[in-house]
Amino acid sequence: MTDSLRERTDPLTGFDIGGTWLRHRSGDTVTRRPAPSLLNHPGLSVETLWDMLVCELTTAEPRNGRVVVSLGAAMDDLTSQVHGSSPLWGDARLSRNLRMELRQRRPDVEWHVHNDVTCALADFAARLPAEAGHVGYLTVSSGIALKIADLGSRTVTVDGSGLQGEIGHLPAAVPAGLGRLLDLPCACGGAGHVAAVSAGPAIPRVAKALGLEPFDAAAFPGRLSEGDTGAWHLLDTVTYPLAQAIRWLWTTQPRLTVTGIGGGVAEALGAHYQRSLEGHLNRDANYSQGDAGRQVVRVLAPGETDPIRGAQLLADGFLSVVKT
Ligand SMILES: [Zn+2]
Repeated sequence: MTDSLRERTDPLTGFDIGGTWLRHRSGDTVTRRPAPSLLNHPGLSVETLWDMLVCELTTAEPRNGRVVVSLGAAMDDLTSQVHGSSPLWGDARLSRNLRMELRQRRPDVEWHVHNDVTCALADFAARLPAEAGHVGYLTVSSGIALKIADLGSRTVTVDGSGLQGEIGHLPAAVPAGLGRLLDLPCACGGAGHVAAVSAGPAIPRVAKALGLEPFDAAAFPGRLSEGDTGAWHLLDTVTYPLAQAIRWLWTTQPRLTVTGIGGGVAEALGAHYQRSLEGHLNRDANYSQGDAGRQVVRVLAPGETDPIRGAQLLADGFLSVVKT
């Protein structure tokens, strides 16, 4: 059966595996349960967590179907080699091939496994015209990563390890006078990384480092809407490293026209998140940015980009991943 025929006849079945949630879509039904991650199961071994993941994926599916998987891990989209994921497996460096193991366990299923940012990028890019050129997608959730696609050639270029845009574990730029944030631990085993300041699990630690009251995630959007000074200080602090990363993109990627920002943290804070980023990006403007207008950065609405839909687009060949 060709992919195009399969696309018309098979209901979409897929998984989106993040550090916090595992979403399972079967036809039109989407269910969500806690992910088999170190974040949700502190103390379990990587081996056990990996087995739980493979078990989740292989026990639920009907026979002889096609299943797409969006995996929140640094991985090679071409070979399916998984390198690691701090929300899922902490500081472990993996050398496991998920697609191969799934095929061994369930050879009747046609498996397609891709990195979650590649998936979200595909779904975001599918709604843009080819003339958009290079387009980016940045996820801010329990982890942070970025990827850029060339819509002209419909390709995503990766390095020899199959990676591109793993910016979450680069050293963070922090606001002047807040050098103590560079001591904050990162789930990868390092400290002061972009994810250690800007990812979801970092926000309570940043609040503590700023001397603010304990972070209340449920109350946070309301406090921002009320203009609470402490809440805005916290948000502007956690968005600062990402604003500087975006500046680097603007400076080094002239073909980039638009970057969508998704993921649980950014989507939940929506317009507040956009306003905070814009505040940083509009500050300290100077001649080096030219006068032709800048690339678009847009915080996406909740659910606007769906990694499972993107995983299906990748399985159908909408974007090709190519190695340098
Ligand atoms: Zn890190």
